[in-house]
Parts: sequence; structure tokens; C-alpha cells
Amino acid sequence: MDLETLAEYVDLWHRVAVTELDPETPDSLRWAWECKREFSIRLAYAARLAGREISPTVEFTWNSQAPLQCEFFTWLVVKNRCWTSYRLAIRGLPHQDACPFCSQSDETINHLLVECVLARTVWQEVCNVLGREDWVPQPASRLNEWSAERSSDYPHACSLGAMKTEELNCLRQSITVSTTGW
Ligand SMILES: [Zn+2]
Repeated sequence: MDLETLAEYVDLWHRVAVTELDPETPDSLRWAWECKREFSIRLAYAARLAGREISPTVEFTWNSQAPLQCEFFTWLVVKNRCWTSYRLAIRGLPHQDACPFCSQSDETINHLLVECVLARTVWQEVCNVLGREDWVPQPASRLNEWSAERSSDYPHACSLGAMKTEELNCLRQSITVSTTGW
């Protein structure tokens, strides 16, 4: 307990000591967070969550309707925490030389899920199903930017995208295991 907190505690102690309760006056709740001093659950939640930042990719990760494993995977993707060959190489760990799908580029998470020819085919099919061919991510675009642009108005697109990216990752893992035994 620091000095300021201790002083506040002592001040409160004195105030309580001199307070006389009137048994004829009914108790009432006073809410210090609003000028009207009226308490409500809505205001309590607003106070509790004050200052909270909502991630622009939340519909692609934790709010998507995809299964939990897809939500977790997309969260790792957004944070760039997937163990791709690129990240393994930086840490001097065993890794493949190139993308297991096309063998043409370094295996970064953005290449696997956006730039690779297989990923682009999957995105074409997903966006065709949604009737929005213009939503296919461009090779240079980042997946978190793509999801942030669609989060508020098209959460179902984010859910479908989350499931398909996790499927791509499962396919990539099965290819890696079958070719390297890792
Ligand atoms: Zn590739």
C-alpha cells in the first residue's frame, strides 16, 4: 500500500467515523460514474470496459462462427506466430527450403494463405460461393487487412475464410510430415 492509498484509507476512516445513519431514511444507491448518479447494469458494463480496444480482426479470429481450432489458428496467423519455414529458419531450426504447395517461394504465413497458387484457388472458390469475386485477396495484401475490411459488414466471409485458412494449414502440415517426417 503506497502513501497516497494509505492517506485515502485514513480519510475514508474519518468520514465513516463521523457519519450518523438515520434509521428512518431508506438506503439508496449512488453511481459515481455518471452525473445523474443513477446505477444501471448497462452503465456498469460501460465503466468496466472503458478504454477497451476492439481488434479490427476480431470477426476473423475469436468472433467468427468457425470451430475453435480455426479461431485459434487465425489468431496465430494475425499475430504472425505460426511455425512456418521462414520463422524456423530465423531461429536456426530445421525447416523446408520452400513452400510445400508450390516449391516456388519461401514459406511465410502470408505466402501459404494468400499468395500461393493453391491458396489463391481456394480464395477464388470461397469468394465465388459468397458471390463476391472482388473479395479475393490480392497477392500483396495481408490477411489481417483483408479480414479487417470485412469484419463489420460481412462477418460470415471472415468465418468462411477462417475455416479455409485452417484447412490449408492442415494440408500443409500433412504434406510436410509425409515429405520430411517432422
Ligand atoms: Zn506456395
